[in-house]
Amino acid sequence: MRVLVTGGAGYIGSHVSAELIRQGDDVIVYDNLYQGHAAAVDPQAIFVQGDLADRAALRAVFETHDIDAVMHFASYTLVGESWEKPFLYLRDNVVNGLNLMETAVKYGVKRFVLSSTANLFDNPERMPIDETERIVPGSPYGESKNLLERLLLWMDRVYGMKYAALRYFNACGCVPPLGEDHAPETHLIPIILQVALGQRDHLVIFGDDYPTPDGTCIRDYIHVRDLASAHILALRALDQGSRTYNLGTGNGYSIREILDVARAVTGHPIPAIVGDRRPGDPAILIAGSDRIGRELGWEPQYSDLHHIIQSAWDWHRRHPDGYGD
Ligand code: UDP
Repeated sequence: MRVLVTGGAGYIGSHVSAELIRQGDDVIVYDNLYQGHAAAVDPQAIFVQGDLADRAALRAVFETHDIDAVMHFASYTLVGESWEKPFLYLRDNVVNGLNLMETAVKYGVKRFVLSSTANLFDNPERMPIDETERIVPGSPYGESKNLLERLLLWMDRVYGMKYAALRYFNACGCVPPLGEDHAPETHLIPIILQVALGQRDHLVIFGDDYPTPDGTCIRDYIHVRDLASAHILALRALDQGSRTYNLGTGNGYSIREILDVARAVTGHPIPAIVGDRRPGDPAILIAGSDRIGRELGWEPQYSDLHHIIQSAWDWHRRHPDGYGD
């Protein structure tokens, strides 16, 4: 297939692009490099630097390349920022996604994979969280992904465009030569590894008074390589219908457990102090991913915590300045 990957220079998009190429698909990366890195684009991909707000540029991509499927990663992704700049999320994420959907429809594309989020589930009633859980977005960011999922429902009903909405829990880990490089970095594992590299003095644990065994938040950490395989399985199944999956391992780890494994992997003491809670953090988020296992035979294979942190550490050690751009 010839797949247009928006945000293909970003963390998850670049890993999925590389896996598509490895499986023999053609990839066109469309990315404005606002968060992404040119060095993360696979040399075998066609790279178009462009913005989803630029509808003429977007049309030109579809005009030039005979696209079979779209994978949409490009978006603003920070929960905290979305509270400070809600319009960036509720307008730009949504309108950019809609531009992409409209152009895809215009050019007869019938397959669309959306990068969605566990932030659809604020205060879930059941744990693990499966796809039957009530959607209550936890932030303007989560709402922007919810709206995109809703719009895809209509693309299917009106135009027969089949979609997969994939809600990630905590994406992490690296597959060489690709890495994880955000500016600013807000994610737990890269921050911990920056402490191990001497780039930060300590980790600030955002609260240790949660109702969990050690008081710190529990999350479901899923290796980006497992996420990549889920995307590609979902893409290949689209001809049988639209689908929505929650993607995680079904296991949760606390911040202190992550720290312990990172200390063992890096051999660094990684000092940590306890700070205030971060607003909007639920105590526990664990995915129920039985549906994709049942329907597509997907099973995480690389999400052992030690392997996740080792793979991230290997990359960060070799790239202390990230992609260096
Ligand atoms: N966290 C932390 N200190 C940091 C960054 C994150 O204690 O410097 C916590 C955060 O509050 C959450 C967990 O680590 O409980 C994972 O956070 P991350 O931002 O990586 O992912 P999220 O769960 O927000 O998607």
